[in-house]
Amino acid sequence: MALSGIQIYKMLPQTNCKECGFPTCLAFAMKLAAKQVELSSCPYVSEESKKQLAESAAPPIRLVTLKGVGAEVKAGNEVVMFRHEKTFYNKPGLFIRVKASDPDLAAKVAKADAYKVSYVGIDFTVDGFALVLDSDAAAAVKTVRGATKRPLILIGDAAALQAGLSACGGETPLLYAADASNADALADLAKGKAALAVKADSLDALADLTKKIQARGVEDMALDLGPMQLSEWLTKSTQVRRLALKSNFRALGYPIIAFPCDAKDENIAASQAIAKYAGFVVLSEFKPEMLYPLLVLRENIYTDPQKPIQVQPGIYEINQPKPESPVLITTNFSITYFSVANEIEGSGLPAWLVVTDAEGMSVLTAWAAGKFDAERIAKAVKGFDVASKVSKKRVVLPGHVAVLSGELEAELPEWEIRVGPREAVDIPAFMKQALN
Ligand code: SF4
Repeated sequence: MALSGIQIYKMLPQTNCKECGFPTCLAFAMKLAAKQVELSSCPYVSEESKKQLAESAAPPIRLVTLKGVGAEVKAGNEVVMFRHEKTFYNKPGLFIRVKASDPDLAAKVAKADAYKVSYVGIDFTVDGFALVLDSDAAAAVKTVRGATKRPLILIGDAAALQAGLSACGGETPLLYAADASNADALADLAKGKAALAVKADSLDALADLTKKIQARGVEDMALDLGPMQLSEWLTKSTQVRRLALKSNFRALGYPIIAFPCDAKDENIAASQAIAKYAGFVVLSEFKPEMLYPLLVLRENIYTDPQKPIQVQPGIYEINQPKPESPVLITTNFSITYFSVANEIEGSGLPAWLVVTDAEGMSVLTAWAAGKFDAERIAKAVKGFDVASKVSKKRVVLPGHVAVLSGELEAELPEWEIRVGPREAVDIPAFMKQALN
């Protein structure tokens, strides 16, 4: 049963020594109740209180970390049902399924491993590989390890998993999967070395199995909710999340592993899994045309709604600008920056782009919030020493804030202030027609 902040406070030393990083024990207790800090941050909790608090302090959904040899994927540790309530923390890992028996195994893994695309300044890659051990498991693990450092999910029977696990050195894979018939054997295999996926026909049976496996010493597990028939799977994933968060039901407080690779429509099943609570998602093969939209979807869902994605304020050079090239102004909201920068870049015309610190907001939002005004723009132009780079003192304001042009003239009396188009898509034509 989760304890309230006040209940936790009563068990703390109440000395307000601040060593935990909070000004008071009460502040620390409130954070602990919200599962936002670890109990170990306070070095003075008595052993008796520790025991009582352990249950309350543990995150409702266990954080499970899969480790490769140079990369890791974390899942779990979520505290809300809906992103707008707070944020989601650990993006579901996207794993590409490959087969040990595939003669092109190394090449396929290397190709997927090399995939990297940039989206609003963020690099997207695959997260790991789900290796089906349908032939020599140890040799296959070595082959995959020769082509990627990313974490692995090993899929096979107990013998294959044992062989595959012994070929992994110093990493933490996920073994798939324990059921009622092999739970003891796989728990003994995974203990201290790997995370273990668990599957059963019903949530009751799944909870019984996780309790049994935990009693054998395995803490890190992932739940397989069965075939991805959309409505049935969604019902189960929502029930698991609710039970973990609202009822603190520890037996189902683990990340979910989803297999859209086996679903009728993989794209839709994968989208649902990302949106509704999967921690690990296994895709059938490396298909950039499917992967990219899924990565964008994931990024949008797992972005903290209170912290917009931002780019660094500064002066950006596009298409190798010269002193006579125009100076355009925008804000540091990533999507705004990349919309503007991509249009200029695509036009082939050189320009200086001054990105002002608008606390990560788009042009109109920042203007309405008082974060993108003449004073801030002038400060950016002066602070980034734009005058030293150009021969013509002229700046172009976004069309949506044409209203600022008078105030900006007062702030930058030596500069010509021009008003550009409202939409980024119209910038190339504006640059060609109005700035020559
Ligand atoms: S370290 Fe412990 S005793 Fe000190 S303020 Fe934090 S909670 Fe209180």
